[in-house]
Amino acid sequence: MLRRSWVEINTDTIKRNYSIYKSLTAPGQKIMAVIKADAYGHGDIRTARLVQEAGCTDFAVSNIEEAMVLRRAGITGQILILGYTPFSAIDELKEYDITQALLSEEYASQFAGHGIKAQFAIDTGMNRIGLDGSDIEACERTIRSYKNSFELTGLFTHLCVADTKEGDAFSAGQIERFKSVANRVSDLRLPYIHCMNSAGGMRMPPYGNLVRLGIIMYGLKPDPSLHLPAGIKPALSWKSVISMIKNVRTGETIGYGRTFTAPRDMRIATIPTGYADGYSRALSNKGHVIIRGKQAPITGLVCMDQMMVDISDIPDARYEDEATLLGEGYDANDMALSAGKICYEIICDISKRVPRLYINDKNEKQ
Ligand SMILES: *Cc1c(COP(=O)(O)O)cnc(C)c1O
Repeated sequence: MLRRSWVEINTDTIKRNYSIYKSLTAPGQKIMAVIKADAYGHGDIRTARLVQEAGCTDFAVSNIEEAMVLRRAGITGQILILGYTPFSAIDELKEYDITQALLSEEYASQFAGHGIKAQFAIDTGMNRIGLDGSDIEACERTIRSYKNSFELTGLFTHLCVADTKEGDAFSAGQIERFKSVANRVSDLRLPYIHCMNSAGGMRMPPYGNLVRLGIIMYGLKPDPSLHLPAGIKPALSWKSVISMIKNVRTGETIGYGRTFTAPRDMRIATIPTGYADGYSRALSNKGHVIIRGKQAPITGLVCMDQMMVDISDIPDARYEDEATLLGEGYDANDMALSAGKICYEIICDISKRVPRLYINDKNEKQ
């Protein structure tokens, strides 16, 4: 492992987050692990295997390629594609035993008659995908008319403001609409009825028999205002090193565009991580890294492959010291606030050129 810029993922933490969350869900509710986008940057195969070992049998991804990667890696059980798959992949859906979300009546008609596993998405207010949940009769008609053209395994909807108090009334309305549709077709005994994401499963009165667990499994808050259950922690940290140290005199500028002018004589460290690694350029002159337990503020613009930080107040900092970009004391939720982003973007944006190292609680390589 080359110590330039790397991510450490604690496998015990992912398993523990999954188990803690599961222990808090209502009896009769299963967890569907949301493994899309390379498990939010944590590595899809590794993450799926970890939670599979912890007893998880249901997985969700965003597209057919992600689904096939999991099957080829030996992931068993249900794999649901939450979004669009082009019809040209119909043979792969079948061959890999993947469950496809049905986005609309038009979409269902295109895929009908091939015997694939499918679940109708119901739109209850997000206006993204799904049958229009405000027309319960039309939903019922559509579901019934396609019940024999697919192996229908469920219905789901998605809450769009489950993460804040201000959204509670709207979320309750979404769940109510979804319930009405589900009740109309209860005689079909569809095995999976689900509407909760991480935040909904934690905050809303339980409904359905599955919670689609994403961000909290990775140990982050869906919204900064939320409190996570005790014991749930970020699984990912991001590290780099000091590649050079120099002294900069009062009035000199740092980096492209000369956006930072030294207000006094300063000690500056260069860190070999930049926006091509997925480190947000929005953190220029705003964010910080942690060196020897202390904050080193970013000075100047984040470059493609490097950035400069102020270590004037860390006199013992040395060449090749470790710099923590994300970790204890400054996680993706904190970084998101500094960057004007959401934590989901922070972790999804860490690029593939940053190697992932898997460790356990005892810091042993996994
Ligand atoms: C991504 C996604 C989830 C997971 O959301 P989290 O907030 O990460 O828990 C659940 N359901 C759907 C439909 C999604 O697209």
